[in-house]
Order: sequence, then structure tokens, then C-alpha cells
Amino acid sequence: MTNTTQSFKVAVIGAGPRGISVVERTLAGYLALPEQDRPALDIAVIDPFNPGPGHVWRTGQSRLFLMNTPCLFPTVVPAGATAAELPASPSGLSFDQWRMLMADTAAGVELPAADREELAGLTPGSFPSRAVYGRYLEWTFARLADAALAAGVALRHVRSEVLSLTRPETGSGWSLEVAGEDPLDADAVVLALGHLPAALSADQDRLRDAADRHDLRYLPPAVPSDVDFSVFPAGNRCSSADSDSTFSTS
Ligand SMILES: Cc1cc2nc3c(=O)[nH]c(=O)nc-3n(C[C@H](O)[C@H](O)[C@H](O)COP(=O)(O)OP(=O)(O)OC[C@H]3O[C@@H](n4cnc5c(N)ncnc54)[C@H](O)[C@@H]3O)c2cc1C
Repeated sequence: MTNTTQSFKVAVIGAGPRGISVVERTLAGYLALPEQDRPALDIAVIDPFNPGPGHVWRTGQSRLFLMNTPCLFPTVVPAGATAAELPASPSGLSFDQWRMLMADTAAGVELPAADREELAGLTPGSFPSRAVYGRYLEWTFARLADAALAAGVALRHVRSEVLSLTRPETGSGWSLEVAGEDPLDADAVVLALGHLPAALSADQDRLRDAADRHDLRYLPPAVPSDVDFSVFPAGNRCSSADSDSTFSTS
């Protein structure tokens, strides 16, 4: 039975791979405690995007955007030799293990037809789409939610952006200002914010200026699925000046 005389509130800001990995390890550590030592635990995961995929791994993006790692490698839970030394995972599968589970029709897991079709063509060495990796992350978060519910842990997703984080004038912990929501308080806060918008570097700034002067277009580094590539008319030559920016010589 949970020790209801103690309670602990955790706020995880950012629900991409790192955020849900923190949730997974927190739950694993919690479940490893003797039941009578478990405090009442409340975990709020705050992100304007779906928990698991977050911003980068959205399941609705074009399947032309691929991961740069083959199926065999990525995982959001401990896998391989490391896993044996750590508290057991309540969700449990690496991407490749999940891929094989999904291929097993006897497992009876519902999946959109486009995901099934893509997964059927993948091998451990092939590169999955970001969308299907997002589906794995979404599935993992759903398993974590089931495990939390079964253990009496309050795990919820707040679909919003955290605007500020302050120490309350009295007491301990943190107060979170959340866009369009009541403030949240927490004993511990995890920042799992991923890549934040950044100012252009000097080189990128020069490229943008040159593009402006010559009536060309320069798109700065961004998450590709956020970018409207239709600004480049068909047939134009495009080149990538660095890994993530795009330059059009119209
Ligand atoms: C386009 C792109 C492709 C990539 N491809 C690969 C790849 O193929 N292989 C690989 O290993 N790595 C890749 N990466 C690296 C990638 O950063 C990591 O794989 C992983 O997504 C990092 O996880 P994260 O949770 O730290 O950050 P993210 O996935 O960026 O998640 C951070 C989350 O925090 C949320 N957030 C930020 N600020 C706030 C706030 N104030 N309030 C609430 N929520 C907030 C965001 O909405 C976002 O969902 C890629 C990165 C990008 C940008």
C-alpha cells in the first residue's frame, strides 16, 4: 500500500524522447520501492505537442523525412546489457523490438495502415521514417500511462507551453506559469526542452543578407516538417549551405 503521508510532485517540461525517458526511469525507480515506502506521486508532463513524439517526431509528418539511425540502434528505454543492471522498465521495448512486435499480427496491436506498410518493409539495418519512430514513442508513453495508472501514480499530459519557472515566496519547490492554464506547482522540475530556436550564426546571417540582396530565398535551420518548401517553385535549383538550412538559386 502507498505511503499516503508523503507526496511528491514532478513537472517534466518537454515530452519528447528525453522527457518520456525521465518519466520511464522515474516510474521504474518508483516501482522498485517496497510498496509501503512509495509516496503518492504526481507527474505532470507539459508540452504543446503529443507526449512521446513531441515536436521532432510528430506522427503526421511526411515519411520522406527519415531518421539518421537504422532500426537496430534507437531506444527510449534501457536496452541490452545496461537494462539488466537497472530497475525493470514498465514499458520495455527498444524501437527494433517494437518493430518486430508490430509485425506480429497475432499481437493484435492496432496501427494505422501506413505505419504497418512501412514497418513491413523495414529490417534492422534500414532507416525508419521520423513519423514511425514517433509512433513508437507515442506507444511507449501509452504503456507508461497504463503502468502509472496500475501503480496509483497520477501521470498527466498538459498540452501547453511553460512560460516561466519561479521559486515561491514561501516554502520549497517551484511554481510554473503555463500558457492558458492555472499555474502548476512542483517539488521537482525537469527541463527536457530539446533544441530551442536560436539566433542565426554570422555565416547564416551573411547568407540571408546575400539572398535578400539578390532576390533569392534563404531558409534558416529548422525542424524540416515545420518548413513550407512550396516557397521554392518547381524546377528551381536548391542547395544546402549547412546541414539544416536551404538556399534557392531561382
Ligand atoms: C529535425 C531533427 C531530426 C533529428 N533526427 C535525429 C535522428 O535521426 N536520430 C537521432 O538520434 N537524433 C535525431 N535528432 C536529435 C534529436 O534532438 C533527438 O533525437 C531527440 O529528439 C532529443 O529529444 P529531446 O526530448 O531532448 O528533445 P525534443 O525531441 O526536441 O523534445 C523537446 C520537447 O520540448 C518541448 N518544449 C520546449 N520548450 C517547451 C516549453 N517552454 N514548454 C513546454 N514544452 C516545451 C518541445 O515542444 C518538444 O516537444 C534530430 C533532431 C531534429 C531537430
